[in-house]
Amino acid sequence: MNLKDRRLAELRLSIPEIEPAAALALQQQGAALIDVREPDEISQGSPVGAHRLGRSFLEMRIETVAPDHRRPLLVMCGAGARALFAADSLQRLGYRDVRSVVGGFNRWKDEGLPFEIPRLLDADARERYARHLLLPEIGEAGQLKLLDSKVLLIGAGGLGSPVALYLAAAGVGALGLVDHDLVDRSNLQRQILHAETRLGMPKVQSARQAIEALNPRIEVTGYETHLDSGNVEDIFKGYDVVVDGSDNFPTRYLVNDACVKLGIPNVHGSIYRFEGQVTVFWPACPRRRGPCYRCLYPEPPPPELAPSCAEAGVLGVLPGVIGLLQTVETIKLLLDLGEPLLGRLLWYDALRAHFTELHVGPDPACRYCGEHAQFPGYGDYQPVCASR
Ligand SMILES: [Zn+2]
Repeated sequence: MNLKDRRLAELRLSIPEIEPAAALALQQQGAALIDVREPDEISQGSPVGAHRLGRSFLEMRIETVAPDHRRPLLVMCGAGARALFAADSLQRLGYRDVRSVVGGFNRWKDEGLPFEIPRLLDADARERYARHLLLPEIGEAGQLKLLDSKVLLIGAGGLGSPVALYLAAAGVGALGLVDHDLVDRSNLQRQILHAETRLGMPKVQSARQAIEALNPRIEVTGYETHLDSGNVEDIFKGYDVVVDGSDNFPTRYLVNDACVKLGIPNVHGSIYRFEGQVTVFWPACPRRRGPCYRCLYPEPPPPELAPSCAEAGVLGVLPGVIGLLQTVETIKLLLDLGEPLLGRLLWYDALRAHFTELHVGPDPACRYCGEHAQFPGYGDYQPVCASR
């Protein structure tokens, strides 16, 4: 008998085994069925509801599946041998009730027990998103969710640049970009999507090139147009999140109103000189009621009081900070992760290196999102200027 067979014989004495049908019954009563096979095996089928923890990460990830060491664990591999080694390791970690499923998935399948063909990342995606896969809060299911997500960016400028690049890098599968402007040399101080070689090109096209160079699998839809009340709903429909990187009040109100009407979360950012702010407007959030933009600012300021985009200066790196905060919030919303910036506005003062959190509640009398509000229609939004 070789060393491996001798060890297996020992393990069979110390690890209780369980028949597949009995394992299914226990799983239905709350035991965790752990499939420890490799991704290429799992792609051929795996028991319904099984936790697919590859052997190499089993010990690292088991606590996310079974934080309670008393939860019974049913370990399954292909034919039964690897499950014994895995079960041994789980026992050593402190799990008290660990059993090995006799005959593994082969027998599970032969006995006609329920299995499914799970959707999995391919090898390219597995490598690209490896650092996400290591986070139990994201993992394969979260990464697949990101790949299925659609995010619309208003403006491919200072705020839109970091948002687009990081969302593409993170694997958000479909990005829409609304911008009617052309790349100008004065943009390059902060709009890192664009480049000297693409001066004069529509920003949407330039952005597409940058995104494709970073992650060619991202589907980019460009809208080279002015957003107005006539096209806003057609453009917004179907997106999971809208990221507002616009630089002017009329667009912010239009984006808000359309998001409220369509129930889409609006990740809002704005910058001015050395200061910026970020928050999430999503009155329809099923978890918590937050305000919309109009709850805070019911009507736009008169044009003479609003700093116009051409006139106001801005520290070039500032939209990087604010855009990245918007990106983090967007990914949290897509994955339903953590505490979103709902009802909270984060204000950043770069010169003082200071963040202030302001609580912003919904206005029950808001004409757009208030308790008994009927959508009052789109307002008269003035023509917008280019994204900053
Ligand atoms: Zn409101």
